[in-house]
Amino acid sequence: MKIKKVFATLSLALIVAPLSAMTQKLDTVKTVEKETLSMLTDSLNSVELLADKVEIKNLIHKEKVAREESLEEEIKAKEELENLEAPAEEIYGENSWVQSINPIRNASIIPNTYDIDLTGFVAPIKYYRTNSPYGWRHRRMHNGVDLKLYTGEPVRAAFDGKVRIKRYNRRGYGYYYVIRHPNGLETIYGHLSKQIAKQGQIVKAGDIIGLGGNTGRSTGPHLHFEARFCGIPLNPQMLFDFAEGTPNMDTYTFKRYKSRSHYAKKGKTSKANRSHYRVYRVRRGDSLAKIAKRHHTTVARLCKANRMSKRSVIRPGDKLLIQ
Ligand SMILES: [Zn+2]
Repeated sequence: MKIKKVFATLSLALIVAPLSAMTQKLDTVKTVEKETLSMLTDSLNSVELLADKVEIKNLIHKEKVAREESLEEEIKAKEELENLEAPAEEIYGENSWVQSINPIRNASIIPNTYDIDLTGFVAPIKYYRTNSPYGWRHRRMHNGVDLKLYTGEPVRAAFDGKVRIKRYNRRGYGYYYVIRHPNGLETIYGHLSKQIAKQGQIVKAGDIIGLGGNTGRSTGPHLHFEARFCGIPLNPQMLFDFAEGTPNMDTYTFKRYKSRSHYAKKGKTSKANRSHYRVYRVRRGDSLAKIAKRHHTTVARLCKANRMSKRSVIRPGDKLLIQ
């Protein structure tokens, strides 16, 4: 029995001793692991902190950029607004906010050539239907294009600008607007049923200025739309694609026709020019070819002087400039 007990104790000791050593080792491993883990956690934390720092830096940078951008935008918007307070003043001058369609009293201020930026164009009506084009029509020059619409249809400003004229003309444009734009153009909107924009109001391209109608000299609801430079009508369909609602070119270069006496410069040349031109009233049976032959000129020169095409219809009573 005793021997047995001793043996048992011994064997137990034999087992326990290495076990405790193993436990110690395990503890050491655990401690190392713990240390490693804590080191790892620390470094991870510092990486995170670093990441946070970078993110904060990025955020600050972004915020700064955004603030600068918004400031720039603000300045730009302010400049644009200032521009719209007096659009194209460099051409028209300060005292050109008059109530006549043609604001130019002194033709010598009309530049010989001028680049008109058309990129900001927005179609004045949404849907383009049939029209009556620019050009000679029923013995008169049709200075714009007629765009069919329904009465009450919104009519929009073609460019940013400022309303120069808001008026009513029973025998002509009906309720109409003339808007001056920073690109130098003035646009006219006629036969409206309702006027929404006020005189002197600053409008943005696409803003609804009125509703379409049939007022003034008009047969059927339509928008009579003109684009003028220094009071001189340009062919809107040459400048704009009304179906697409886009300009036909980014820049249109206006060139002054020196041949027209009233656009000629003052001074000797002007007098010389004036003596070269005279007004001819078309008689019954006249044709462009006949008139050209009678006045020793060509149909092409006649057309150029009168801004018309060879196929333009002339009628008795029409006035033509003869070179
Ligand atoms: Zn018209």
